[in-house]
Amino acid sequence: MEIIKLLKINQVEKSLKNNPKKWLVTGAAGFIGSHLVERLLGLSQKVIAVDNLSTGFQANIELFKMNKNFSFLQGDIRDLNFCIEASKGVDYILHQAALGSVPRSIKDPLNSHLSNVDGTLNIFESCRINNISKVVYASSSSVYGDSPALPKKEQNVGNPLSPYAATKKINEIYASVYSLNYDISSIGLRYFNVFGPRQNPEGAYAAVIPRWFSTMIKGEKIQVFGDGETSRDFTYIDNIVDLNILSALSSLDGAHVLNGACHRQLSLNGLFGYLKNIIEEKSGIRIPDPEYLDFRKGDVRHSLADTTRARDLVGYVPRVSVEEGLSLASSWYYENL
Ligand code: NAD
Repeated sequence: MEIIKLLKINQVEKSLKNNPKKWLVTGAAGFIGSHLVERLLGLSQKVIAVDNLSTGFQANIELFKMNKNFSFLQGDIRDLNFCIEASKGVDYILHQAALGSVPRSIKDPLNSHLSNVDGTLNIFESCRINNISKVVYASSSSVYGDSPALPKKEQNVGNPLSPYAATKKINEIYASVYSLNYDISSIGLRYFNVFGPRQNPEGAYAAVIPRWFSTMIKGEKIQVFGDGETSRDFTYIDNIVDLNILSALSSLDGAHVLNGACHRQLSLNGLFGYLKNIIEEKSGIRIPDPEYLDFRKGDVRHSLADTTRARDLVGYVPRVSVEEGLSLASSWYYENL
């Protein structure tokens, strides 16, 4: 049996500082990618950032451009040659670039497929060509699909309910095939509703927390899809950055998938209560009751992750609670909206 030596995040970060590596972060102009870049640069790592700026922002790149360890390549992961060039000489890849959102994928399945499946295959293929033996990539809790079992354990998945979920499932299949045939180790992180500063509150495909912060700060009525008892395992971004770094540095071989979450089930009504309290306390404005709409197609009803495997295999322990995270995120939305 493989013996895994688990290190805590602060030990891993210390060892990285003493022995800097070269990282490729795809989707670096986006929400999660930009936080990965920020942490890595803070640890004096060399970072190559890649993004096509389709849903990400130039402003997220501007944050880092004065750092001598940072370089940005604007390009598209659907272009294999671009991926091969961008990944030359890197030690680790944190692959985040994708078109997110279940409703977007239902409206436009082909483009979700092209970025999420073809793009990810190009990243795996670049690992093969450039002899990069470890890739950490963003999967999604949507892979659990119609499985009603709670909490979600990595080995028990159902059928995907949307084109987006299908793309993430296909990524996991390719990761396994690349491990078997080409010895490329991978860890797919099934993120569960990540939130935090820089997550885009605008547009039809915005995630619930930034959308609600933005609406409530304006004093407007928020809209809830369904009866509000739909639940999610919301996870603050810093936990997910920890998980990426722990995964990249772990000694695990083969293809693995890990839940990236907090192991805390919160209903939309419960979330509304937290945000209402934070905003009413901060601004003194009175938040109106929500408006309840029809359930949204493709959405899963309940979500709660079992994070035991991430703890046992890479030493992941979420450091920031949902409440702390909401308070941290609210400060950012107040300053930046
Ligand atoms: P995001 O939209 O903020 O970031 C994605 C980035 O990828 C954007 O900057 C976008 O411009 C870039 N991108 C998209 N297609 C590209 C392409 N073809 N070539 C190059 N760049 C491209 O989203 P995020 O929330 O930061 O999500 C990051 C990853 O995590 C995605 O793979 C997403 O599917 C996954 N994920 C996120 C969550 C969450 O709660 N945020 C949950 C589950 C999975």
